[in-house]
Amino acid sequence: MTDRIRDFLRTRRPEGPCLVVDLDVVRGQYDQFARAMPDTRIFYAVKANPSPEILSLLTELGSCFDTASVAEIQMVLATGATADRISFGNTIKKERDIARAFQLGIRLYAVDCEAEVEKIARAAPGSKVFCRILSDGAGAEWPLSRKFGCDPEMAPRVLELAHRMGLEAYGVSFHVGSQQCNTEAWDSALASAAWIFREMTERGINLRMVNMGGGFPTKYLRQVPEVNAYGQSITSAVRKHFGNDLPETIIEPGRGMVGAAGIIKAEVVLISKKSDDDQVRWVYLDIGKFGGLAETMDESIRYPILTERDDAEKVPCVLAGPTCDSVDVMYEKVPYYLPVSLEIGDEVLIEGTGAYTTTYSAVAFNGFDPLKSYVI
Ligand SMILES: *Cc1c(COP(=O)(O)O)cnc(C)c1O
Repeated sequence: MTDRIRDFLRTRRPEGPCLVVDLDVVRGQYDQFARAMPDTRIFYAVKANPSPEILSLLTELGSCFDTASVAEIQMVLATGATADRISFGNTIKKERDIARAFQLGIRLYAVDCEAEVEKIARAAPGSKVFCRILSDGAGAEWPLSRKFGCDPEMAPRVLELAHRMGLEAYGVSFHVGSQQCNTEAWDSALASAAWIFREMTERGINLRMVNMGGGFPTKYLRQVPEVNAYGQSITSAVRKHFGNDLPETIIEPGRGMVGAAGIIKAEVVLISKKSDDDQVRWVYLDIGKFGGLAETMDESIRYPILTERDDAEKVPCVLAGPTCDSVDVMYEKVPYYLPVSLEIGDEVLIEGTGAYTTTYSAVAFNGFDPLKSYVI
């Protein structure tokens, strides 16, 4: 909770559930990444929070951007950033979207198979491509599946095809899983990347870039390592696997850039028990899985929740959202402890919600408005 957010909520008293993002925190996070990895270019993962104010600030600070669609590319261009600061990092693109991106000036694309290389060779001739490799996501609280990336063994074939089709085989990318709390998690992927570089050199093609993805955490209930610890661990892993022939490097922080900058204000709608001897209380908020808290899926992300009664004894609660869908329950398998004196109508503050909330909220499920956002 920052003073600026506290003042904003006190003076503006916005109605209904809303996210408030403090740009000073985003600026601070950007500076930390820039200082921790001074030789690495930062590509903010736009999907984490595409608010125009955040994109404009990052453009001003010199950031580059990882985008996943033509709409995201246009949002970044609208801030005045030039196309050479944008990558089209989604491995799953329609050929006509690639053509549109090419028209807009984008020359850097992700691939993870030969069919995607063929699309880019046709729709974005001469562009740079990097090949994404699989990562098991071990240690991540929001692991990414086998959906993205190919086996490292396959990458040289994909990159060689790119080269033969007139593209620039530029490098390798991976993502170690989101909310990755193990600072060493980059090591084995960097070993694979270095192997691919050597394999390509033997084929007469010199790769230049390693894109080390996102994964940098936000502090929720548990402490997480400092950005600096990630910087040191990653820098030494790059040196260990590449020796003196260091590649250009990129990181793509999303959650780590904006997660801590946001707080959601919500309200207790109902507190009840299911029977006289029920051991847990049910606490229903005016926000849930469909209002922006989608990352509570499988109870993966556990947000810190502040109330005005946190001095009171805390009791186990099931925490649920306001909609008429039975999956709209945030925490049940592992109950959430909230003050025994909590009352209907109380305000609650959900911390660490600057990333992956606003864009996940439904447009009007059950008639509830999408999550409002104030960037200050
Ligand atoms: C989502 C995404 C990111 C951001 O991941 P975080 O864990 O939020 O930092 C980075 N790169 C790519 C390609 C992504 O899809």
